[in-house]
This record gives sequence, C-alpha cells and structure tokens, in this order.
Amino acid sequence: MTPALELRAVEAGYGPFRALFGVTLSVPTGGAVALLGANGAGKTTVARVASGLLVPSSGSVHVDGRDLTGERTFRYARAGVAHAPEGRSVFATFTVEENLTLSFQRLLGSEGLNDGLERAYSIFPRLGERRRQVAGTLSGGEQRMLSMARVLVEAPPVLVADELSLGLAPIVTDEIYATLEAIRASGTAMLIVEQHVGHALALCEHVVLLDKGTVAWEGPADDAADVVVSRLFEKSGG
Ligand code: ATP
Repeated sequence: MTPALELRAVEAGYGPFRALFGVTLSVPTGGAVALLGANGAGKTTVARVASGLLVPSSGSVHVDGRDLTGERTFRYARAGVAHAPEGRSVFATFTVEENLTLSFQRLLGSEGLNDGLERAYSIFPRLGERRRQVAGTLSGGEQRMLSMARVLVEAPPVLVADELSLGLAPIVTDEIYATLEAIRASGTAMLIVEQHVGHALALCEHVVLLDKGTVAWEGPADDAADVVVSRLFEKSGG
C-alpha cells in the first residue's frame, strides 16, 4: 500500500551545515510514527522537510505516492500535509476566533469558515469557551491547542507535529495526546516528533530513532522502550 508520507535518502541542512545524512522513513496511511532522538539529532529538520518547509539537498519526499521534492509548501498542504510547528504559532493580539478565521479563510475559503470553526471547537471545546479571548492571554497549553486547531482544519490525511508537549504541564500534555488519539481514530496518519517518550510510544505503533542526522534504529513501539532508554538516556549518562 502506498505510504501516506515517505522520505527517501534525505540529506538536508542549513547553509554549509549538514543536519540529515540519508534519512529514509515512511508513515503508512492512517499509521502513526514517533520520531525520537536527543537534542540536535535532526528531528525538527525531518519534520520541516516532511512538510515542505525545507528543501532537501538530495533524496526525495513523497506524499500519498506523489513526489513533491522541491515543490512549494502550499503544495504539501494541498496534498494533505498539516504541520503543527514547535512553539506557539498564534497571533498574540488577536482573539482565538480571529486566529482560526485567518487560517481557515486561507485554507477553506469564506464558504468553509463556519464548518471549520465548528469542527475546531468540537475537537477543542476549551477554545470554544474562549473564542473571544485574546490569544496572548491564553495558557501555554491553550495556545498549543490553538496552534494545532489552526492546521487541523479538515482532518488532514497527514499530520506532522513537532514537540507538542514542549514546555507544557503533564496534565495539559495528557489532554493534547487524548486529542491526538481522537484525530488518529478519524484516519489521520501522523509523524510525531517528541522528547516525551512515554506519550509518543503510547500513541504510535512504529518508532524511528534519530542520532546525529541518521536513523540509528527503527521498529515497533513495543520493542522500542528498551532501545530508546539505552540509546537516549544511558549514553548521555542520564
Ligand atoms: P531539538 O530536540 O533540540 O529541537 P532536533 O533533534 O529537533 O533538536 P534540529 O532542530 O533538527 O534537531 O537540529 C539539527 C541540527 O541542525 C542541530 O545541530 C542544529 O544546531 C542545526 N540547526 C537547526 N536549525 C538550524 C538553523 N536554522 N541554522 C543552522 N543550523 C541549524
């Protein structure tokens, strides 16, 4: 079966700096893959390449079997790849609803706006309660939900999520992962970049472990716990 998302032998970097060395990975349709690794291993770089935000210097990126290497980011979005970036990408001085309206109008057009808002508030009821609140005054977790809601407009075929739990209280992380379970159950394939290994292993059935820009190990999540602990933590003495 054609994978929802595939990276083949991807090399990528920033100017002269090479961050990825021949990374190959694949996310099956409706499947969930956790991308784990130490700080600086290249996880965010993979997420950026997978969403078309960074063009690889060699190798290729395929979305639902289509080679989109070198295409512009909106082509990835149109092919069904939603990217939830690291950090809180919201407009701080706009209300929750204004933030959602801005992205939904761009992604769905005016005619799809109300359906988009309804869907966002049903996935994230807290955002519905706070629709008139200025985004900059939301809690960190609520801002994270808002930045996810802005890209999860139409149950995308593929979600690339970068460090969703970064800087959040454990209870908020639990809530965000419960939402991800629900989004997954609706058929969205996922590439989940995480430092929070427990959550990632619970959500995803397959794990790719990156080390210094290469795939150091990959396999089923059930086998990953021991490998991840020995490679990620013991090596660093932590
Ligand atoms: P973290 O968990 O700390 O976010 P990561 O695994 O996501 O790490 P990346 O952010 O992909 O790692 O970074 C991979 C390498 O690329 C690192 O050595 C980093 O310093 C370098 N890098 C990342 N972004 C840039 C940039 N804009 N310019 C130059 N080098 C960069």
